[in-house]
Amino acid sequence: MKFTDFNLKDTIQQAVTDAGFTEPSPVQKDAIPLVLEGHDLVAQAQTGTGKTAAFGLPIMSMMKADGSVEGLVIVPTRELAMQVSDELFRFGAKSGLKTATVYGGTPYGRQIDRIKQASIVVATPGRLQDLLMSGKIKINPSFVVLDEADEMLDMGFLDEIKNIFTFLPKERQTLLFSATMPNSIRKLAEQILKSPKTVSITKSEKTNTKITQLYYVVQERERDDALVRLIDYKNPKKCIIFCRMKKEVDRLVAHMTAQGFKVSGLHGDMEQKQREVTIRAFKSGGIDIFIATDVAARGLDVNDVTHVFNYHIPFDSESYVHRIGRTGRAGKSGEAITLVSPNELRTIKRIEKDVGTKMTTQVIPTRMEVQNNRSDELIAKIAETKVTDKAVELVKTLQHDLDIVTIAHLLASMIQSENSVKGKDTIGLGLEEIELLIERAMQNRGNGGGGRNRGGYRGGNRNGGGGRNRSRNGSGGGSGGGNRNSRSGGGDRNGRSGGGRDSRNGGQGSRG
Ligand code: ADP
Ligand code: MG
Repeated sequence: MKFTDFNLKDTIQQAVTDAGFTEPSPVQKDAIPLVLEGHDLVAQAQTGTGKTAAFGLPIMSMMKADGSVEGLVIVPTRELAMQVSDELFRFGAKSGLKTATVYGGTPYGRQIDRIKQASIVVATPGRLQDLLMSGKIKINPSFVVLDEADEMLDMGFLDEIKNIFTFLPKERQTLLFSATMPNSIRKLAEQILKSPKTVSITKSEKTNTKITQLYYVVQERERDDALVRLIDYKNPKKCIIFCRMKKEVDRLVAHMTAQGFKVSGLHGDMEQKQREVTIRAFKSGGIDIFIATDVAARGLDVNDVTHVFNYHIPFDSESYVHRIGRTGRAGKSGEAITLVSPNELRTIKRIEKDVGTKMTTQVIPTRMEVQNNRSDELIAKIAETKVTDKAVELVKTLQHDLDIVTIAHLLASMIQSENSVKGKDTIGLGLEEIELLIERAMQNRGNGGGGRNRGGYRGGNRNGGGGRNRSRNGSGGGSGGGNRNSRSGGGDRNGRSGGGRDSRNGGQGSRG
């Protein structure tokens, strides 16, 4: 199926083509025709599946661009408001559809002016309610969208939403989009939608097959070392590390910074401004590693995240799916890596079952393995490096005393030592041990379903050659303390900080 099959307005179709979208996503396939037919709609699909375009394209295709506010999109956070607004603007610009973004914490004046010129208003519930109740704006949108409805309810916006609807025209098309569909959402839908159609993207379609899912089994106390080793090994361009609690975020930010990584924390205690600055830095590459709680990372749309790390496995499958969906976006591939303790193997099994995909277990690479990886990278890098005048001079000077091969050896040793991998040689459990533990965990469950299907995790895809089934206190080898100055650039821990204003989207870890 192609986008052209929807018969969207020409200017909208052109924008879709310009955006490089070729194939509609499952939720788009189902939702767009229903919206175009004029139905109210309840749609459920995982984050990152293109819900914005699923409602945006059809409603914009039906708009007249007559200068009035024809569409209202209500979203939970300021960030999402900006994100959705950008996406809609991109699709609507050619059709003369302007968007206005409305959220709290900024002056009213300019927002009100913008609304007066806009065809589409994208707003957070609090500020929108203010504007409507105070009579500062009057709008009659034909299309009203509740986006990320589950999150709005999680954040306690139910009353605001109900109140907002008392200001909206009865004649309207109402669409509700949500990643999950708890009862509270169904109830809300009954109150504000008229005989809605439903679209629900089922589980098998839900998980993105372009995401490789791995897990590593480590002892509790090895988590930090394991994380650093894996990041050293995978060398992610951009990654997000998920924690359960804010204080874990803070601790890890400090730890990773001390290790020389460019990291920043993201949690609900940050002020909105700071949050945006941080996210922008992450998008533009000033920060490579984000450490975040589930709540803080909701809706975060960064397209080139190569790796997601779960420092702890999340409590529920929904969070797991949501977390790993931060990578493998927009058709790219990604890797999701979960650290579990032996006690958490059961959680892995449960999530595998809920989500309907297998995760592969691997052994954490040894120092040597990382080192070898780096040598390959170094060789490639050296070959690519441009010779500078300064370097030529330097070598000339050195040649007074040394022959050229010695100089090369010395320089290579210098780079090598700057790049040496620190930490103990082996971290985490070996494959045999993991298999045994899995077997035991599954047996302990009584006959709790699916018993011993270990064939699946065996063999996995541990490439890297000849079965290294190391046991825990095996080689152990001369671990090296020392400071990893390899990454240079050090301490840019600006992004984070306390300033606890907006506790709304707070990163209070534990969701039962
Ligand atoms: P959701 O609201 O479901 O979390 P978004 O609407 O934010 O997802 O879309 C996620 C990303 O995927 C965005 O960058 C968007 O531009 C992109 N995208 C959406 N639909 C398509 C498509 N059909 N083809 C390619 N990219 C798409
Ligand atoms: Mg969305």
